[in-house]
This record gives sequence, structure tokens and C-alpha cells, in this order.
Amino acid sequence: MKDIYFDNSATTRICPEALAVYNEVSTTHFGNPSSRHRLGNEAAEILKSAEKEVLAALGAREGKIIFTSGGTESNNLAIFGRALAKERFRRGGKLLTTAGEHASVSTPLALLQSLGFQRAEISTLGGVFDLKMLEREADKSTVLLSMMAVNNETGAVYDALTASEILREKSPDGVLHIDATQSFMKIPFTPKSLGADMITVSSHKIEGPKGVGALWVSSALLKNKGIVPLAVGGGQQDGLRSGTENVPAIAAFGEACRVYRERMKERGKTVSSLRNYLIGKCQEELGASVSLLLPPSAVSHILNMEIVGLKSETVLNDLSGRGIYVSSGSACSTHKRDISPALLAYGKRESEADSSIRVSLSYHNTKEEIDCFVAALSQIIATRCKKK
Ligand code: PMP
Repeated sequence: MKDIYFDNSATTRICPEALAVYNEVSTTHFGNPSSRHRLGNEAAEILKSAEKEVLAALGAREGKIIFTSGGTESNNLAIFGRALAKERFRRGGKLLTTAGEHASVSTPLALLQSLGFQRAEISTLGGVFDLKMLEREADKSTVLLSMMAVNNETGAVYDALTASEILREKSPDGVLHIDATQSFMKIPFTPKSLGADMITVSSHKIEGPKGVGALWVSSALLKNKGIVPLAVGGGQQDGLRSGTENVPAIAAFGEACRVYRERMKERGKTVSSLRNYLIGKCQEELGASVSLLLPPSAVSHILNMEIVGLKSETVLNDLSGRGIYVSSGSACSTHKRDISPALLAYGKRESEADSSIRVSLSYHNTKEEIDCFVAALSQIIATRCKKK
């Protein structure tokens, strides 16, 4: 039987169009964009076109794209770059975030706290970003709120725009960074609709190559020198991220953005109907042995479920043995057997979180695949629970 890939939030297969661009740029337009000859100029033009594509995909009318090595680096740049931007921030600046962020946001923030910054986590209990708590926590010392638009494990969508309004009301230096890794090209948004000053996106989640991503930064933040670079050296990308740009990957990322943007609506509809089908099937055929996590506002491509009484690792391995791929917790940290902070922040108990798997869908998936998955899960539950 063909493999069934339900781990699309971990990564995706590169699309043929992006792969073709990657190959062409690697072999034909291989110049260094900083070189002053024809090949260099060609490479520089390729970067410009890719930037246009990413800006268009973000619906950004202004601002700059800083190309990075992926979502992780973009988040690090946004957080450290903002926190370290001004001397006075370093003496008492407050950093806000949500409970249950990806490690590439929570770890830099924890590090900055250990260096003397104040840090507070806003509750996301029940998949809802607690705006009242934000009102209490944000004050004039707040220099950053870094939050996801969509939680990568629960699929919950947070109200970034209202958060942005509260932040601005409370602090003249309040900057909103959105980790849009899981929302980019999946749900419509723009920097304006999020009220964001910085946005992280990653190429490999949208069928671009791995190891490339971007941080969008508003013109106002750049003008105000509200962010400093982390990688310094040759001064590439207007000094905001030194190092020779990964031109083939950036070009392929731009192409993946172009292709996804053209088809975003129809792909979104397909995934939404697959989600409804999956929910219906699980409810009909698995009953109380599976508890679906259904946040009040959720994306279609992520569905977390607790397989009652079984360890997620066991279920994941049993499914993998049948050629069905899902994840437990975040794929980026699966090798550590940590209980998912996102599920705990949602309000799940440790034992429930330890029994949860994430199914992440793509428009490539089919109802037949969902049928196979539910049948396999039903068998696994029957066998494993009998053994107990
Ligand atoms: N943020 C979120 C919400 C993610 O899901 C991921 C990837 N799992 C990242 C950041 C990191 O992105 P990358 O893999 O491109 O470093």
C-alpha cells in the first residue's frame, strides 16, 4: 500500500515548480549576489524577485524581507534582534509571549530572561489567547510580544489583531512579532490584518525547500532601528543578516510562494472538507476511544487527538509500521520525550498530552487515506487495549 503522509505541519515535499527553479538557479545563475559582474547581478535580481513573491504572499505593501535559514532563525532574529536593539530595553525591558510556543520562540525568551529581561506568558487555556491577561501584563516597559498566529500542535487560531491593539495602547515600544510558520498560505492574513511589525515564515511548510525562511519587518521598525542583526559580517541584506544568500533555495521559496498563492483558496477548501470528513469518521468509528481536540477557532490542516489510554509513541510507531505518518507533539522536538507544552497550556493533563497525536493534512490527502487511517487506528486500539 502507498504511504499515507499526515505530517504536513512537520514538513512537506518540495513542489515540482520550486524544485525546477532550485536546479536552474544552482546550475545556471550560480553567481554571488554581491559580485559586481553579470552573474552576480543576475543572482541579485533573482533575490529581488523572490522578495517580491514573499511580500505578495504575505500581502505586505511595505517592509522588508530578511531571508534566513528557516522559521527557527527568523524567530531568533525577531526576538534577540528586538530585545537587544536599544540599551534601555536591556535595562528592564519586558518580553511577552503565549504559553505553548514553539521552542524556537520559548527558548530565546527564556535565555533573555536569564540575562535580566522580564518575561511573562499569556495563557492559551482552551485554545484561546487570554486578552484580559495581556491587558494586565503589558505595560510601558513592554518591548515585544512574540506569539503564534496558529498553534502548531493544537491548530488554535489566536486573536493577534486585538493583541496588537492592546499592546500598542499599553506601550509606546510594544512591537508584535508573529510566528506565522503554521498559518502562512493556510489561512488568509496580511501584516495589517494581524497588526504585526514582524512575521516569521518558513519555506518547507509550503512545499518549498528546507533550510530557508524569512522574517518580514515593517518599514517603521527598520526606520526606528527597532531591531539589530544577529549575523554580522559582510553586510548582506542591508546589514540585517550577513552571509552569502542561499540564492537557489530563496528563489525556490519564492516560486513555492507563487504557486501556493495562486491555489491557496482551492487548497484550503479541499483541506477543510478533509478535516470535516476526518472528524466525522473518528466520531462515528472510534467513539470514546479517541478524544478530538477542537479549539473554538481552529485551522483545517491540524487536528490533535488523544488516543485514550495509549501512549502517543506507541500509536505513532504502530501507524508508522503500517505506512501512516503522524506526529506526537512537535516534530522538531520528538527526539526529546517532552510532554507537549502546547497541550499542557491548552489545559490537557500530562497523561492526556502523552497520549495525543497530531494529524496534519494537506490538499494532497484523500478521503480514502482518512478511511485507512481510521481503520488502522481502530485496529491498533483494539489490539493494544486487549493486551492491557
Ligand atoms: N515555529 C513553528 C510554529 C513551527 O511549527 C516550526 C516548525 N516545526 C518552526 C517555528 C521552526 O521552523 P523551521 O523548521 O523552518 O526552523
